[in-house]
Parts: sequence; structure tokens; C-alpha cells
Amino acid sequence: MSKGASHQAFLPYGYSMGERLVVSGGLALDSRGERPADLLIDDGVIQEIGEPGSLSGRGLMVDASDALVMPGFVDIQVHFRTPGGEESEDVVSGAAGAALGGVTACVMMPNTIPTIDHPAIVLEVLELGKSTPCDVHTSASITVDRAGEQLVDIAALHEAGVNVFTDDGTVVDDPELMKQALAASHALPGIVISQHAEHSAMVEGGVINQGPVAERLGLKGRPSEAEAVIVERDIELARQTGGRYHVLHMSTSSGTQLVRDAKSAGVRVTAEVTPQHLILTEDDVERLGTSGKMNPPLRTASDVASLRTGIFDGTIDAIATDHAPHSPASKAVPLSVAPPGMLGVETMASVIWNEFVAPGLMTPQRFVTLISSGPATIAGLKSHGRTIEVGEPANIAVFDPHRRWVIDPNHLQSKSENTPWPDKEVTGRVRHTICMGELVVHAEVLT
Ligand SMILES: [Zn+2]
Repeated sequence: MSKGASHQAFLPYGYSMGERLVVSGGLALDSRGERPADLLIDDGVIQEIGEPGSLSGRGLMVDASDALVMPGFVDIQVHFRTPGGEESEDVVSGAAGAALGGVTACVMMPNTIPTIDHPAIVLEVLELGKSTPCDVHTSASITVDRAGEQLVDIAALHEAGVNVFTDDGTVVDDPELMKQALAASHALPGIVISQHAEHSAMVEGGVINQGPVAERLGLKGRPSEAEAVIVERDIELARQTGGRYHVLHMSTSSGTQLVRDAKSAGVRVTAEVTPQHLILTEDDVERLGTSGKMNPPLRTASDVASLRTGIFDGTIDAIATDHAPHSPASKAVPLSVAPPGMLGVETMASVIWNEFVAPGLMTPQRFVTLISSGPATIAGLKSHGRTIEVGEPANIAVFDPHRRWVIDPNHLQSKSENTPWPDKEVTGRVRHTICMGELVVHAEVLT
């Protein structure tokens, strides 16, 4: 299949939509732990759970031997570039990559052209998502056209299906608007105000992290204090209003400490981190070129260490990728003018498993919390991130923890190639994905 091709109706081994499935031979893994379990899936729901082999013949066999059967992964920060940026990605290509990565639900960011800032656009993009192999949700902006001047109609957008509000790509600078948005989140249970926490004036003209690499390359830096200033201010506003605040792609030690302190003080705050901020530093930018540029930027080894502490001690609730495709042409320019962003949705699970679980740094249960139940809870995605139990929606990733493979930018589903993991060999790969009861990926191939 060519890059970015549509989700094909090709059925590699005879699956047809709505067919009853038996997931057989695997180890069920969720927030409660691991146990051998075969699953009977029908009507979008886990209907029965049995001893290994006990359900054979009851439906189409989905081989989970030597694999983990987990709740489908959830990525609450993806840019699928619809509407207006379809040369880099669209809902179909984005969702295809998500499905191959075991991601059964994702939340799109609203920095599109036009901005996703009113119910009609929300309904339009949700409609496009319905025929894809992933349960596609969208956020909406906090301010009209992300211009930072006027609040959107939060209640009407929530009514249209939006739980997450953010001006991502830019920060909401005006504390009064941010306070009003947080107050709205206090009044409307189920919504969350998410911030791209970089103070505009402090990062203006900045290309990569402010530090030795920026200096050596003669580039203006983006200081880590720009994150702390906003996180600190917003936490105070959340405290005053009782609102729900979420820090997108947290990148610094100081941000992590502020969130930790706010949580222990009872403020309603959550935070996410990207795989790249957990693994890479500013030193990787020269090797990666424009694929190593994102906002907030890759930071320092000491920030990485703090973020790692944060994912283990519960300060950070979720891993999200900030999947941000940019067409090869748009990235084939000098670092100083390249658009910021990296791919991520298709490789999230493999990269995190490879770096953390395979070497024994993270328990499989914490993995599930960080990439499934944690993000689902933040974004209010009630059918995702659940336990493997009878009656639960059948959103499932069957993951082979021993499968070794090499990430090839040319073979990802995205229309773009700006992965921060080119030619990286990783252990662990999604074998099958079941989304809303449908087998959408079988044997590493879209059905
Ligand atoms: Zn952002």
C-alpha cells in the first residue's frame, strides 16, 4: 500500500464487518494485572471470557498466542490536519496509522484551517472519522480562531461532542480568558481545558531549546522557564475557579514539579508527556534535522530524568504523541524556518514498550495506565481504556512483546515522514487491533 493510501476494503483472510471474533491464546493485561484469557467478541462488546481454548469454534479465530491482550491505546493529542492541511495528513491516513499502532481512540487538535471552533466544523470532522479504523474524536479551540481574543461557545461545542478545549499550537496568553475557560470547566463536568504551555513573548523567534545546541547552531532558543511561567499561572487559575486543567506535552523539570505540588494541594490538574520528550534531548536535534524540531522543544537530560520520575510517581497521567505530520517538502527547509512537529501515533506503543517495559524500567500495568486508561479518563472517552471484562466495549490491542522491527519512515501510514525514530529498531509491535468490535488490523495489516 502506498503512503497515506485509503483504508482498503481488502480482507487478507476473509474477515467481514460485524463478524463474531474469538481472541485466543493471549494474556489479558489491564490495570488489574495479567491473566490468561480468551475473549468472545460480538456486537462491539466482550461477550464472554474463557479459559484458553474454551471458546474455539465460536467465531473467527484471532491468534493472540505469545501476545498481550490489552485495552486499545488512546492518543489524546494528534494533528490529523483536517480541514485545510490534507497534503500532510488527513483523518483517513491518520486513523490508519493509529489503528496499526493499536490506538483505538484519538483526539484531534483544533489548529486546522479553518480552526475547529464551532459545532458545524466539529460535526464535519467527526463524520469523516466515522468510516475510519479508529474512534476519532476532536478537541475544539478555547478562543475563536485561536486568536486569543474571544472565548468559543464551550457549552455548544460540548453538546456537539467536544470534551477537550485547547488553543494548541499557541498558548492562551490572556489570564482573564483562561480563567473564564477554567470556570466553564468547573460548571460543565466532563470538559477539560488543555494548554500548550509556552509563554508567547518568551519563545518568540525561538527554534529549539535554549541551551548549548541552539548557541552552537546560532539559533534563538525557547527557554524552559516559558513553560513554568504558564503552568504556574494556570494552576493558580484552576485553584481559584475549581476548573479542570491539563498540561499538553509537558517538557521540563520545573513544569513537572509544579504539577506534582498542585496535585498534592488538591488542584484539578493532569499532565501528559510525549515519547520524544521522555527519550530524546536537544543533542538529538542535529542528527534528526527538521524532524527533531517541535514545540515545546526537546530539552535536556535532566528534564528527561524529571519527566521519567513523573511518569512513575503519578505526576504525569498519560503519554500522548502530539502526532504532527508535515509534508516532506515543508520540512525540507532550514531548521530555523521548518514547521515544528513530529509523527508519533503509529509508533507510540512500540517505542514506549521498547524503551521502558522491555528493559524492566516500567511495569506492564503502568504501561496500560499511561497509554490507555490514563488518557481515556482525561479526555472523557468512556468506551476506551477499560478493563478486559465481560460487557466492556471491545476496543483491544493485541501486542506481541517480542516482535522486533525497524521503524521505516517510508512505510508508516502517515502521508508525511517526519518521525523522530527513523531506522530505530524496537522490540514490541501491535499484531491485531479491534476497534468498536471490528477487527481493523490483522497480522500487522489493515483489514
Ligand atoms: Zn502543542
